[in-house]
Amino acid sequence: MADLTVFLRRGREASLLRRHPWVFTGAIDRVTGEPARGETVEVRAADGRWLARGAWSPASQIRVRIWTFDEDEAVDRDFLLRRVQFAVGHRQADPWLAETDSWRVVNSESDGLPGVIVDRYVDTVVFQLLSAGAEYWRDAIIEVLEGVLRPRTLHERSDTDVRRKEGLQPRRGHVSGTPLEGPVLMREGEVRYAVDCIAGHKTGFYLDQRANRAIMDRLAGGGRVLNAFSYTGGFGVRALTAGAASVTHIDSSADALERARENSQLNGHDPARIELLCGNAFEQLRALSRADRRFDVVILDPPRFVSSTAQLRRGARGYKDINLQALALLPRGGWLATFSCSGLVEPRLFQKIVADAALDAGRVLDIVHWLHADGDHPVRASFPEGQYLKGLLCRVG
Ligand code: SAH
Repeated sequence: MADLTVFLRRGREASLLRRHPWVFTGAIDRVTGEPARGETVEVRAADGRWLARGAWSPASQIRVRIWTFDEDEAVDRDFLLRRVQFAVGHRQADPWLAETDSWRVVNSESDGLPGVIVDRYVDTVVFQLLSAGAEYWRDAIIEVLEGVLRPRTLHERSDTDVRRKEGLQPRRGHVSGTPLEGPVLMREGEVRYAVDCIAGHKTGFYLDQRANRAIMDRLAGGGRVLNAFSYTGGFGVRALTAGAASVTHIDSSADALERARENSQLNGHDPARIELLCGNAFEQLRALSRADRRFDVVILDPPRFVSSTAQLRRGARGYKDINLQALALLPRGGWLATFSCSGLVEPRLFQKIVADAALDAGRVLDIVHWLHADGDHPVRASFPEGQYLKGLLCRVG
């Protein structure tokens, strides 16, 4: 086999020694051989010491994504099988997943498989291959998923923007088993959701918010709930089943709102308890405030406002604005569940932004719970970037 080795610059091995799985272009001194996109390379320190083995990604700033830190571990089909089996085993033993039939099976770097996302919705498995290395091993990964998970349907949703950074074209569609014809009906506690794995966001649903949706069981009873950035209704549908007096969903997508309505229908909710507001949430929140509306619980779960450090300022203003608007709708004793899924907005910064909003609103805000993605989206301790979703459950004074 050709010798494909990446030698790092002097002193640049520190992060790999701490088992962080990314090698940036700036850390690389030279490469021996000519690795193809996604091919496995050895990574060595300047003095020749072996550090790790990973996938070569010639188009990305993250030039190598590490598969293994064990010199004796080859990267092959068996390797992928072991990693997937390990990830599956963790979920099967996870007591918090008992209330559902749908969860993330493989969470990329945090399960030792950079660029590989696998979600199962009942007996349908949907995957995303987001890195050059994951794409290189596509056939083997498919075989492993079929063998380990035995899905009724295997479907691909590698159609996100991040593929472009890896020099890959988007790809989506049926892979094997019975082709999907309609939505998959999943369960979360007592609640059922219809999930569109073909055209929905990500692989179809925001599985990461499961534990945070469950908070509605305790908060929503009898109350007026505002579910801003609702998508297909996740939080609000759970709130209605928990006995909310009413739920107002806001989303800019009419399609998503229609799905939210259908999800309520699926759960037997009285349509009179549901209000759908289609439009820009920044404006809709203001309009509700002008109309003197009040809510007992407000959920803010916007899309990612910050994708690069250049967008930090503007994104922070966006987060502050919606939180400020939400506070205008909450009486004393009301609850605000506010989220950011921008990895670059760290928990401390997010807290500061929300604190600034409260200050401007002249309100006292107490953080009662710190929220994050559910346990099927673990964050490997050596990979803090894995923590993208953060939230604050606040009581308004
Ligand atoms: N809370 C949802 C996920 C939200 S995803 C859940 O738990 O399932 C973000 C949603 O915000 C998407 O549905 C998108 O259509 C919507 N969105 C994006 N920008 C928006 C805007 N400016 N105003 C209103 N909705 C917006």
